Amino acid sequence: MHFSDLGLMAELQRAVAEQGYDTPTPIQQQAIPAVMTGQDLMATAQTGTGKTAGFTLPILHRLASGGNDRLTRVARTPRVLVLTPTRELAIQVEESVRTYGKHLPVTSVAVFGGVGINPQIAALRRGVDILVATPGRLLDHVQQRTVDLSGIEIFVLDEADRMLDMGFIRDIRKIIGLLPKQRQNLLFSATFSPEIRELAAGLLHQPVSVDVAPRNTAAETVTQKVIECNREQKKDLLKHLFDTRGLHQVLVFARTKHGADALARTLDKAGIKSAAIHGDKSQGARTRALSEFKDGKLVALVATDIAARGIDIDALPYVINYELPNVPEDYVHRIGRTGRAGMEGEAISLVCHDERPQLKDIEKLIKRTVERVVVEGFEPSATAAPRPPQPPRGQRKAQSGHGQPQPRTQTAKSGKNSGRPQQHHSGSRHR
Ligand code: AMP
Repeated sequence: MHFSDLGLMAELQRAVAEQGYDTPTPIQQQAIPAVMTGQDLMATAQTGTGKTAGFTLPILHRLASGGNDRLTRVARTPRVLVLTPTRELAIQVEESVRTYGKHLPVTSVAVFGGVGINPQIAALRRGVDILVATPGRLLDHVQQRTVDLSGIEIFVLDEADRMLDMGFIRDIRKIIGLLPKQRQNLLFSATFSPEIRELAAGLLHQPVSVDVAPRNTAAETVTQKVIECNREQKKDLLKHLFDTRGLHQVLVFARTKHGADALARTLDKAGIKSAAIHGDKSQGARTRALSEFKDGKLVALVATDIAARGIDIDALPYVINYELPNVPEDYVHRIGRTGRAGMEGEAISLVCHDERPQLKDIEKLIKRTVERVVVEGFEPSATAAPRPPQPPRGQRKAQSGHGQPQPRTQTAKSGKNSGRPQQHHSGSRHR
């Protein structure tokens, strides 16, 4: 199938061609026709499947077809609302709208917290067709009466599962209550839990269901490996992988904000240019880190799960799980950051003895056993080192979990070996 088979207007086909895409991804093949005809949509698709273009293109098509009278009015209230869980995702969705809508007279704005509200107010006042927002900041605008949602014709809930994880359900319900009853609804979620099912039941009317990335199918193009090691070796092993494999543009996952910071500092000190990205970083710091990473100025970006959601980087070659996530679905999200849109990618997980239960859960979810390898010089000891004392549950988040090296139990020290394992702005307008 070719993009020209989908019946999108010429301006959109041109923008797609300029991006260098000729074949729609599976989600695009299924979602674009359904959205174009005005139907509600329930899509189970994770980041990396091309889902953003899957809703952006048909939405732009609907806005721009059927008479452009509204598009030529000077000040206008938003006709499309896209809710996203994170600022990064809001920025990226809005960028996609601009990319695909560049030959159409459509305006868009992204509003999210952590930055000044006034430029957003000014942008909304100038009039906007497509509003991309995070829930909290959108409700701030509602309260200040700086946004009018009464003209929304299409409502998109992006990464709905993550929204629920982040506790946005009440905000979402509040926002839905402010929208006109008559509208088209699109819901995207990487997983289809009972909570999502319930949300979908109340939101969608006779939706078309699209399921391109079942939650138990880790991206086919990603080579997955587990490197077994001792907990206290992880930092050295990671440095060793960078040194011996010439890694670049690596997204490294840590479980905690503190752990991400500490790891980025360690790598940086070892001459591996790194930065951490997590929820406590200012918007400016996050945007800077992301753009330096994209430009190749940083070799590694150390991220927590929530911060990494929505990071859109083409052809990311490596993802390293410095620690396994507690929630198995997060593993699928993490490795989905590589091997995108048909590119090959490699996901390496450093797994110590304590993490075996998590690995077991992950393998149950993805329905496959991940290949185990051992790196010479970093062999795990036969009997695991005792787990360091854990703080009470409530305090765990503040701990790095790997901040201090534990007593060494590793004896092998060959050292010399092959190492081969056996955003931006708050509002923008465009023409
Ligand atoms: P998304 O799932 O929306 O985050 O998109 C994942 C990546 O795939 C983005 O970097 C897009 O630019 C890219 N992409 C989207 N559609 C296509 C396509 N039809 N062919 C190739 N790449 C695409």
